[in-house]
Amino acid sequence: MRVTNYGGFMRATVAVIGGGYGGIAVAKALDEVTDVVLVEPKEAFHHAVASLRATVRTDWIPQIFIPYDRLLKRGRVIRDQAVAVEPSAITLLSGEEIEAGYIVLATGSRYPFPAKTDATETEIAHERYRRVQKELTAADSILLLGAGPVGLELAGEIKAEWPAKRVTLVDPAPEILPDNSARLRAELLRQLGDLGVRLVLGTRLAAEPPTEPGRFAPFTAGTESGEEISADLWLRCFGVEPVSGYLAGSLSAARLPDGQIRVTETLQVAGHPTVFAIGDVASLDEPKRAANAGKHAEIVTENIKILLAGGGDLATHSHPGFGILVPLGPEGGAGEIPGQKFLGPREASEWKGTDLMVGRFGDLLS
Ligand SMILES: Cc1cc2nc3c(=O)[nH]c(=O)nc-3n(C[C@H](O)[C@H](O)[C@H](O)COP(=O)(O)OP(=O)(O)OC[C@H]3O[C@@H](n4cnc5c(N)ncnc54)[C@H](O)[C@@H]3O)c2cc1C
Repeated sequence: MRVTNYGGFMRATVAVIGGGYGGIAVAKALDEVTDVVLVEPKEAFHHAVASLRATVRTDWIPQIFIPYDRLLKRGRVIRDQAVAVEPSAITLLSGEEIEAGYIVLATGSRYPFPAKTDATETEIAHERYRRVQKELTAADSILLLGAGPVGLELAGEIKAEWPAKRVTLVDPAPEILPDNSARLRAELLRQLGDLGVRLVLGTRLAAEPPTEPGRFAPFTAGTESGEEISADLWLRCFGVEPVSGYLAGSLSAARLPDGQIRVTETLQVAGHPTVFAIGDVASLDEPKRAANAGKHAEIVTENIKILLAGGGDLATHSHPGFGILVPLGPEGGAGEIPGQKFLGPREASEWKGTDLMVGRFGDLLS
């Protein structure tokens, strides 16, 4: 087993585990300050925020995978997976061990394809998006299970690309986006109605469809409320799952039953002042968002700088509110940002719908 100390001064080495939205932000921000290693099994950053556009548009597929090779100037991106993380040592799948003075856990969450992908090879990920697009092209009717932000956005993307396809959303909750305002719900429902999307709320399927998700294979499924729904293809639009199975030794105790990692208000892992957790994997009672992962990255960057400089009062996290912006295709959607105005379809399109922040993350990684 090889032991690598990437820094001349071990306590100055920061190991960031996971190169998603939070991980790339903290790694980039600390790169000029200290020795940074970023561990990430994927060949390229997956820009999940735009993945539903790439589900319906071939030209978007290459845009949602952005190589890591220009992220860091001094530090290194190691293409590997952390399999055991203890307070100052990380064991990788390859067998390599990294010692670090500070560790930032930024392993985020899994989500069913096509919202996220677990493919680590970019070409394999491209192929999966091309395949689901081909299957969607063949389908006249599509069933989306889950009417959260992902289901709503995917319905909008499908209708923007193929207006004649029939799209049905099923969700056990009686209303969409319960954490948001009635005004936002009404606006999204209005636009979905105009697009001809059908919502079946307050019930669930009695059993999962008998076919594989994302494959053209006509089926009929019954809801618990007694309705029969026929479709050519279905996709799962629920099931976020924090990724933290690698916690080992004394860090294991910080893993909560739901997989999140218990953090303090300074985003340190409870009981471990040199280990931080950010983004979807951190046990913060707030919406799981890339924007919030970016805010956590700012706090942790500041705190590691303070600790590197010898200590002091650390920055603390506060609830970011329930802001959301749900595009419904490039031209539609709605949103609300805490403390700012309500966003209708024109603003939603300008703020996000047109480029889905591809430019912003392309810049961060270049
Ligand atoms: C379709 C969709 C649209 C969205 N739109 C928005 C939006 O518009 N705005 C917004 O703010 N949020 C949005 N979100 C939510 C956002 O994508 C997540 O909140 C965000 O991905 C969380 O970032 P993260 O850095 O915590 O983790 P992730 O982005 O999940 O990244 C974690 C990384 O860690 C890596 N990793 C996992 N395990 C290991 C390991 N053992 N070792 C090393 N690396 C590992 C993974 O490969 C991955 O690259 C959207 C999500 C989806 C699915």
